Order: sequence, then C-alpha cells, then structure tokens
Amino acid sequence: MNFPGRSVLKEVHRIAEDNFDFVDLTLEPPAAWLPDGKEVGRLISDLGLSAVGHTAYYLPIAAPFDELRKTTRDLFRRCLDTFSDAGVELVNVHPDIRLPLHHAEQVRARNAAAIGDLSADAAQRGIRLMVENIDRMFTDPDDFASIFEAAPNAGFHLDIGHANLRLGPRQPIRTAALLEAHAQRLDHVHVSDNRGGELDLHLPLGAGTIDWKTSIRMLKEAGYDGTVTLEVFSRERDYLRASRRLWLEWWSSVS
Ligand SMILES: [Zn+2]
Repeated sequence: MNFPGRSVLKEVHRIAEDNFDFVDLTLEPPAAWLPDGKEVGRLISDLGLSAVGHTAYYLPIAAPFDELRKTTRDLFRRCLDTFSDAGVELVNVHPDIRLPLHHAEQVRARNAAAIGDLSADAAQRGIRLMVENIDRMFTDPDDFASIFEAAPNAGFHLDIGHANLRLGPRQPIRTAALLEAHAQRLDHVHVSDNRGGELDLHLPLGAGTIDWKTSIRMLKEAGYDGTVTLEVFSRERDYLRASRRLWLEWWSSVS
C-alpha cells in the first residue's frame, strides 16, 4: 500500500523497486488525495504492476447528518472517478461506525443504505465495491447481511488482522467464520499482525499472535488465490520485505 503522506507516484516507484506484484492504491489526504488517475494508471502499468483501490477508513459514509453523508458520497464518487481513470476495477469501503447514540440496528441500516448507493456508483464506472471487516462492529459474518442485501453485487474484503481484535474469552480468530459465510464474494485480503485485544498494531507477520500458516490453510481451503496486501506499517522497510518473504514461504509450504 502506498503511504498517503507521500506522493502517489513516488510510492508506486518504491513498491515496484521492492518487487511487489501490485499496488494497494489508497487515495486519501494528506498527499494521496485525488492524484491524476490517468498518470498514476500509466505508471502502474509501465512498471508491470496492477492495482486494487483503497479508500480512507474515516470517510463518514453513513454519517448521522444527511448533508455530511451526501457530501461524503460526492467525495467517494470523485475517488471512484480517479480509480476508473487509473484502470482500477476493485475498490474497498470500510463500514462507518461513528454514529454515537444510534442503536446497532440503526448503524447497520445506515451503512447498508450508504454502501448500496456507493456500490451502484461504483458499478456505473465498471468498478466492483468490496466491503472490509473492521473492529468494534462489522466484525462477525452476520453483521454484513443487510449490507449485502442492499448491495448484492458488492464483494467481501477480508482483513485477517481485524479478525483477531476484540475477541471474547476463548473466542477463536474470526477468519474461519468470515470465510465460511462470505468466501464466495471474497475479492481481496489484508494481512498484518497484532496481539489481539483492542490495538490494530499493523505489525510485521510473525511479530504478533496470529497463526499465519493456519490462516493460509483457511484461505486455500476456501479456494482463494487472489491478491493479498501486507498492511505492515513500520518505519523500517525491511520488516515489510521480511513479511513478504515469510508469506510466500508459508504460502508454498501449506498444501
Ligand atoms: Zn485492512
């Protein structure tokens, strides 16, 4: 994933230099908000890469204020236009849970309506929207039922790091349950390590408590062989490179 504090073009070069296969292209402030999509798309293909699209997790797509929700939909559409210019055909969205004082049912309903609209906006541009599991809410398989009802053509985006957060006592990581329910729509996977609990640490693989070989076995059993992004955020890039090497080793050792 490009670091949004640096220019998108510089980040795409850096990702190519590290021999990655594709860019998880996030379009968000401060330095990666709505670049020239055609220019970015040209560079990505000149460097032999492809791309999936990522949007800011803090966009208030289901905001309790209707005007804010409408403005957010406009911003999201501009983002989709940029992705379309860049030739990106898969774009993620994070459910929005910043609706204080709303019941869980209301939060689910507002997200379903919002994601239904955004999924239609994406489809108009030849893009498939995919919904990422987060933490706090929209963690368990059933949390997505009303969203996929409102957006039947949306995909599922599994984040294995998020699946390990805020588990109950002796509750296993949610990867298996999420895959069992939504593998048929699975379009993309994010991986990063953490120690469970509440902190989404984005550690290098193997530095936290997630059992990665078992995670890979689950993905393979679900028939997944698509794109996987290392969402490892560290000052030292060697941790990212080491995570890639480990992932590829584990992937080929698990049958
Ligand atoms: Zn993620």
